[in-house]
Parts: sequence; C-alpha cells; structure tokens
Amino acid sequence: NLSGDVYRRQHEITVTGDEVPPPFSSFESTGFPSEILREVHNAGFSAPTPIQAQSWPIALQGRDIVAIAKTGSGKTLGYLIPGFMHLKRCHNDPQMGPTVLVLSPTRELATQIQDEAHKFGKSSRISCTCLYGGAPKGPQLREIERGVDIIVATPGRLNDILEMRRISLHQVSYLVLDEADRMLDMGFEPQIRKIVKEVPTRRQTLMYTATWPREVRKIAADLLVNPVQVNIGNIDE
Ligand code: ADP
Ligand code: MG
Repeated sequence: NLSGDVYRRQHEITVTGDEVPPPFSSFESTGFPSEILREVHNAGFSAPTPIQAQSWPIALQGRDIVAIAKTGSGKTLGYLIPGFMHLKRCHNDPQMGPTVLVLSPTRELATQIQDEAHKFGKSSRISCTCLYGGAPKGPQLREIERGVDIIVATPGRLNDILEMRRISLHQVSYLVLDEADRMLDMGFEPQIRKIVKEVPTRRQTLMYTATWPREVRKIAADLLVNPVQVNIGNIDE
C-alpha cells in the first residue's frame, strides 16, 4: 500500500511482521463506531497520533503487538479503543470477571488510564475499575463483585487479590502490559508472570513500552505469540 508507506515514512514508523495493515491516517478511516468518534472529536483531537494510526489496524485484526513509542505519544488510546471493540464482540458477563486487563506500574498511571477509559468508553457503556496498593482493599473488592469490563491494575495489588481468590481472570481475552519497561525496572516481573498464568492462553496480548531493552524483549518473547512490532522514531535500547 503506497499511501501507507508514505505515511509511515513521514511519521518515522517502522513495522516488522507478516502483512502489516496500513496505518489509519484519519479518525474517519478507522471505522470506529460513531459514539467513539464523537468522544475523540469532543476531546479536540484532529488526527490519530502515529502510534495510534499504526497500532489500531493491527490490534483490530486480533493480533499480538509490541508498540515502542516515547512517553506522551498517545499509547493509552492505542490499546483502549481496540479493547472497547473487543469488548463489544465478546458479550461476556462482567459479573464473571473482567474481559480486558491492563497492567500498569503505578497507582498514578493506572488512575490516568481509568480516567481515559471513562472519558472515551462511557458513551459505549463500558465499565472500568482500578486496583492499586497503598489503599484499602475493601472498596476495590466490592467493585470487582459488582462486575467490570476493564480492570487496570498494578501487578502487586492484583496478585494479592488473586491470592485471596477474590477475582477470576478466566474471562480475560485482551491483556495489555503498559509501560512494560517501567514495570520490569520496578521489579514486577515475578508478579506479572504469576498473573499471566491465570489468564487463558487464548487471548490477544499487547505490550506498550517507551524503550526496548533486553529484559523487555525477553518477556515479550515469552508472553506474546507472533507479534507485530511497531516503532515510532529511533529505538532506545
Ligand atoms: P503515552 O501513554 O504514550 O505516554 P498518553 O496515552 O498518556 O501517552 O497520551 C498523552 C496525551 O495525549 C493525553 O493527554 C491524551 O489524551 C492525548 N492524546 C491521545 N491521543 C491523542 C490524539 N490523537 N490527538 C491529540 N492528543 C491525544
Ligand atoms: Mg502511557
């Protein structure tokens, strides 16, 4: 696709993988439902960012993806909107557990992701809750019991709740490792691996990271299946 190649060159996008679909250069070309398009319009966004433009069509194909792009490049919506589309197709019962699981390194980042999910997913009736340490477990457990589509969690707290057997991940089929490099820097690798053992292997796995050091490449090789890799700009190892 020639115009896809031009867009990639203009935005310093490089891809590796089989038959990678061309980027969506505009919101109109995404085919997202009107309630989502209305929210991005209300947010004042004029076009997808490069990481969104290239990771959306790949994620919508149900493929695993590694996306490497610097902070502030719009990675959150890069995985959230395809996650909303995934939820619509699944028709799962939220009382049986979340369908989308996002792992995030800190309470602050997890809360920001939840805010973004509320802002862009509310009109699609998507529910989202946050699990993080340094706060009482009671309210978090009650939110889980009430039923949610999306859980955004720090690995430590989610692992504690799993050990208490107060959450089931058997329905998760869209797993996101956000800020994977930071989670590994913070020593969360053992918790991440324990959590992933509770998620069915029949799933889509998406990894978003700002840098691509050896430890991140290793965990990607272990947890993702035949991923498409997308880089924006120079790779910082
Ligand atoms: P990252 O995770 O890559 O650090 P974020 O997803 O947090 O980046 O996005 C950074 C900021 O850009 C947020 O305020 C977000 O709402 C905004 N943003 C996301 N997508 C777009 C877009 N297409 N156009 C303009 N701003 C955007
Ligand atoms: Mg981010």
